[in-house]
Amino acid sequence: MIKSFIPVAEPSLGSRERSLVAKALKSGWVSSRGEYIDRFEENFARFCGVKHASTTANGTVALHLALLALGIRPGDEVIVPSLTFVATANAVLYTGATPVFADVTPDFWGIDPASVKAQISQKTKAIIVVHLYGHPANMEEIREIADQHGIYVIEDAAEAHGAEYQGRRVGGLADVGIFSFFGNKIITTGEGGMVVTNNDDIADRVNFLKNHGMDTTKRYWHSELGYNYRMTNIQAAMGVAQLERIESFIAKKRSIYRWYNQFLSRAADKLYFQKEMPWAKSVWWMTSVVIHGPSANVERRRDELMHQLRGRHIETRPLFFPSNVFPYLADYGRSFEAPVSNNLSSAGMNLPSGVTLTKSDVRYVADSILEHL
Ligand SMILES: *Cc1c(COP(=O)(O)O)cnc(C)c1O
Repeated sequence: MIKSFIPVAEPSLGSRERSLVAKALKSGWVSSRGEYIDRFEENFARFCGVKHASTTANGTVALHLALLALGIRPGDEVIVPSLTFVATANAVLYTGATPVFADVTPDFWGIDPASVKAQISQKTKAIIVVHLYGHPANMEEIREIADQHGIYVIEDAAEAHGAEYQGRRVGGLADVGIFSFFGNKIITTGEGGMVVTNNDDIADRVNFLKNHGMDTTKRYWHSELGYNYRMTNIQAAMGVAQLERIESFIAKKRSIYRWYNQFLSRAADKLYFQKEMPWAKSVWWMTSVVIHGPSANVERRRDELMHQLRGRHIETRPLFFPSNVFPYLADYGRSFEAPVSNNLSSAGMNLPSGVTLTKSDVRYVADSILEHL
């Protein structure tokens, strides 16, 4: 049966989530302490293969904490990809540092090492890589550049829980990593986030700063500016239940990507997919396609296709705008061209990719695309 409306994303919440959330409520531990906080952090650290995981109120503040824990401050520059969700660059601004943009690669849409190299300056303190739409960034090349210049690497893995780079799960591949548990991400806690790291000092700083900067031995003593960036035990209960099911979500996301590839193979001259590299296992948070063609009218054709699909009760989304086009971000960094980001942004779209989709839903979406093309 075809659903009456096919959304881009939809969480799968079941009896296990309801049961653990009910237990959290019954326990009376509804704020940021409780057994589910501890369990979620332990289980998530194990899932990522890292030493420390620290829950946060959302993925954006997780990024802010990661930057603060590395000592990023006004006057510093942090290189970020132009094609990402805006939170990546915003978190840099929260610290008072300057976001400097780099373009992405045309195949897997990760931050482009050549572009990163061109943007390094004396002030560069860190590079944030984004595992965009679930596909890991090229960690080795970025790590090499970072090591040459003695700067940090942060993984924005908000869209990529469980994705693998050379057989290793993302999150623990750099100095510090962050995840989001927003309603449309691979797993959700409603709102929520996590900072992961193998570094004891970074973990301590994150836990200190997210809890009002309160001294761990002297209650209500605050030696520096802190934040309330904590997750609640109720959300963590949901997270524990979701994490138990993550392998099935990832398998389903990968099937959806495979089905679209199969059903749309006839249209290979008209559109192409974000590509999975030989060294990568993408979790395909969103399956995305890009319309081929001259840049003059490709955006109009993409929008027409999206409009046609909407008429068939199929929701799609344009790919992100490059962050450097937003008025308050346009002035930051050095003069910058991002031809790849610009093209992807105007010609690309996310297809329905929720884990509740069936194979026939995907076939219906693909057939609707083929019909329009
Ligand atoms: C979702 C997302 C974030 C922010 O996460 P929130 O939990 O919504 O604050 C950051 N970076 C990227 C790439 C994202 O997709």
